[in-house]
Amino acid sequence: MAKKRRGKHVPQRTCVGCHQTLPKRQLVRLVRTPAGVRVDLTGRLPGRGAYLHDRRSCWERALAKGTLARALRVALTDDDLARLKAFMAVLPDDEDDGESAAEASARAG
Ligand SMILES: [Zn+2]
Repeated sequence: MAKKRRGKHVPQRTCVGCHQTLPKRQLVRLVRTPAGVRVDLTGRLPGRGAYLHDRRSCWERALAKGTLARALRVALTDDDLARLKAFMAVLPDDEDDGESAAEASARAG
C-alpha cells in the first residue's frame, strides 16, 4: 500500500500576461500585500494573487496592459513597478511558446 504520487490533480492557473493555463508550479506568483505587490516565490503568502510565466514577455505585457494590476485589483505604485521590473530584468527573454527555460536546459544537458 505504498502511497502513489498524486499525479492526477494538478492545480492550474492562468498567466495574466498571455492567458495560457498551466500547472501552478510553472508560474510565478505575485501577491498583493499591505506593503505592496510582491513576488511570492514560496507561493504561500496570504493575499490576492496573480500568476505569470517566468519569462519577460509575459511580464512586460501584464505591466504594459495593466492586466496584472487588474488581476490583483490594485493600482501598482512606483515602488511596486520598480520591484517587479527588477525581477523581470533577470527573467529569460523568450518570446517562443512551448518551451520553458527548464526544458531548454534539460535538452541542452
Ligand atoms: Zn504567459
